Amino acid sequence: MLSFDDNLCWTRAGKARQHSERGVMVSSVDVANLPLARLVPLVGSERIAVLNEQAASFQERIGERTIWNINSTAQGGGVAEMLQSLVGYARSAGIDTQWLVIEGYGNFFAITKRLHNQIHGLGGDGGPLGEKERHDYDEVMDANLAELLELIDPGDLVLLHDPQTAGLADALKDHGAIVVWRCHIGIDESNEWTESAWAFLRPYLERVDHFVFSRPSYVPQWITRERVAIIPPSIDPFSPKNQELGADDVRRILTTMGLFDGAVDQPGEFIDYDGNRHVVEQSAEIVQFGASLDPAKALIIQVSRWDQLKDMPGVMAAFVERVLPETDAHLVLVGASVSDVSDDPEGAQVLSDVMAQWSRLSDAERSRVTLVSLPMSDLGQNAAMVNAIQRHASVVVQKSLAEGFGITVTEALWKSKPMVASAVGGINDQIASGCGVLLENPRDLQRFGDDIAGLLARPRAMDEMGRRAHAYVLENYIGDKHLLRYVDLFTSLLDSNP
Ligand code: UDP
Repeated sequence: MLSFDDNLCWTRAGKARQHSERGVMVSSVDVANLPLARLVPLVGSERIAVLNEQAASFQERIGERTIWNINSTAQGGGVAEMLQSLVGYARSAGIDTQWLVIEGYGNFFAITKRLHNQIHGLGGDGGPLGEKERHDYDEVMDANLAELLELIDPGDLVLLHDPQTAGLADALKDHGAIVVWRCHIGIDESNEWTESAWAFLRPYLERVDHFVFSRPSYVPQWITRERVAIIPPSIDPFSPKNQELGADDVRRILTTMGLFDGAVDQPGEFIDYDGNRHVVEQSAEIVQFGASLDPAKALIIQVSRWDQLKDMPGVMAAFVERVLPETDAHLVLVGASVSDVSDDPEGAQVLSDVMAQWSRLSDAERSRVTLVSLPMSDLGQNAAMVNAIQRHASVVVQKSLAEGFGITVTEALWKSKPMVASAVGGINDQIASGCGVLLENPRDLQRFGDDIAGLLARPRAMDEMGRRAHAYVLENYIGDKHLLRYVDLFTSLLDSNP
């Protein structure tokens, strides 16, 4: 096994020099080991005993091999959020698991964002996916592969995440690795855009050993079912994003962020990814008009990357038209600071569109809508801020136009929050009957707003919904279930690749 230096970049003299003009392409994310035992009080000893048993026999089966996760960002978005905890739990179960992040340059991330939008059935920037794009994409893959092939041994298991890494598969297969491509995005019905994306990606994926999708309906027709595992994403109840926070810490964190007025007696605390107690001392970039948030007023939030598919403008418009006149609630739209999410080139444009829309509101309307960009320089603090705002919210919404599986939805349900969310993609699985309100047509602003106002008028129903939602997440979407599904998949792959 290789070791990594402090700044998380792998160091091997030859390769580092080879790409010196672009710098090192591949970095390793440092993840703390997380004991599975801490899940026992929540999910029960039986569930963890089953996982421990399976992990022990898998450990024998996998021997000296390493499992490598490869994606394109260490922060921002659901994949990074999940890897933080899954890698940590797998390691403490004795399975050598690593997480590598590849680098892109030129128009690589514009191409992969185009693929992302098209797999969701939308045109995105409307740009092409032709020979030029393939050439540019391949060049970035080759630059990363030069380093990856130094790290990965023949026989290792490689889990490639999303379109950004699909082009690595062939060379890794040639190298002797067992390769799984996991697609975290998708749409139930195919259309011309999904066809276009798959036409681009398919040549890279013909030889992978297995595929993972979040829902059966996301699997394109050209992939036979025997080659696919369906694994829905999960959350970690102890991560800084989801751990219990007391009311005082919530108030302190929101005050330090700049959402509430006044000074704090002491900074809000949380347990960080490394298991140590840390404090939130950073503030957020906040766009607001007039007074700060009144902690006593009902709060509606959506937390998302600044991405067209999350439809922040639709949330604002529906709130202003239908919720604001009926209630005294406040809306806060929360996203990661756009300068900090490296693989999402559209973020700045979407945020600037949202700000322009906000500035066109009347003063009275603007004073009820706040825009928040959270710093990502410290992932633990960022997560604790998301946690605090989700816990303070009265209603959480997710008005996505398309969604593979919205981790933010599960995060909010875990916190027993009543939700109004679009009935798109994985959200249909995530919000079971009675656990939230599903919006049939994600573009129906009137209905969306009325659903929110309707919920606010029924506090008892909101409580009941929140209780059911929490129980449903506990049963279905905690990391132990996710790891068991991986163990099954990897065991069968090792059986067929002795
Ligand atoms: N997120 C975050 N900080 C932010 C905004 C979002 O940590 O400032 C997280 C959010 O809490 C969730 C993830 O990013 O864990 C988004 O995952 P989701 O599956 O909802 O959407 P994706 O971004 O993957 O499309």
